[in-house]
Amino acid sequence: MQDDLRAELIKQFPAEAVEMTESTGKKYYACPTCKRAITLGETRCSGCSQALSWDHIRHEEAAKGTKTATLSFEVGGDFIKGDCRKCPLSYIAKENSENVYECPLKMRANCKLEIS
Ligand SMILES: [Zn+2]
Repeated sequence: MQDDLRAELIKQFPAEAVEMTESTGKKYYACPTCKRAITLGETRCSGCSQALSWDHIRHEEAAKGTKTATLSFEVGGDFIKGDCRKCPLSYIAKENSENVYECPLKMRANCKLEIS
């Protein structure tokens, strides 16, 4: 059986809804499969169509704080830190009706890339 078909079949069996507690103490219900917010009593997740059960609601704490993500990518041999024009992440934006290379991470003047 194909994996995606198997996953769809498994979703037909009700899974217990999860009550998430945010670090602020706010509580909400989430789909156990895709973690999207769901409404109390919903029988099916509108996001991933997981069948839901509310008999034994699970309790989980939402992840706290922040994490660090690291991404490695190739740049040209002549690339130097802060050279947004040659950076593959940059995109062209308008600033005072002029085209500028904008950084999606807002690091233009403070480039944190590590070149090796
Ligand atoms: Zn879902």
